Amino acid sequence: MLLNLSKILSTPSAKEDFSISLELTSVRFMGNEYPVKDKQDVIIHAENIGKNKVDVKGSTILTLNLTCDRCLEDVPWECKIEFEKEYDKSDANDEWNQESFIEGNNLDVDGLIYEELIQKIPMKVLCSEECKGICPVCGVNRNKEQCDCDQSVPDPRMAAIQDIFNKFKEV
Ligand SMILES: [Zn+2]
Ligand SMILES: [Zn+2]
Repeated sequence: MLLNLSKILSTPSAKEDFSISLELTSVRFMGNEYPVKDKQDVIIHAENIGKNKVDVKGSTILTLNLTCDRCLEDVPWECKIEFEKEYDKSDANDEWNQESFIEGNNLDVDGLIYEELIQKIPMKVLCSEECKGICPVCGVNRNKEQCDCDQSVPDPRMAAIQDIFNKFKEV
């Protein structure tokens, strides 16, 4: 949702609290799309801190459904987001000096939260440290089912690690 900052911008020492609901339903990141499982309204405090200057502080908590790197099951991931931004408009040409997520006199809260969120998504996601992953032969989730496949067939990722390990030994 957009938050209109006009009133705070034009009123000396004005301050106001807002509760902004997010429209965000999923997050695209590194070629994946993660659904938003749970979200809270963004609590925002905006304050006039000088002529045409506004300070915006906000926080929220979101839960995304990430995917386990080994077994590909959903992994709920809760993320707390806190931000503080200062926006100011120059007198000369009535333009924002800091334009990110500003449209007209509105702050694009969804855009801002999205940007903060993708910086926090972990690169490595596991449902648990002990996750047994997917059988490389038959594809069952080995946390849930046992199969009779020949487990000596190496997982290609494990094989890559083994290669690196062997190289170290040769040095
Ligand atoms: Zn897993
Ligand atoms: Zn199997």
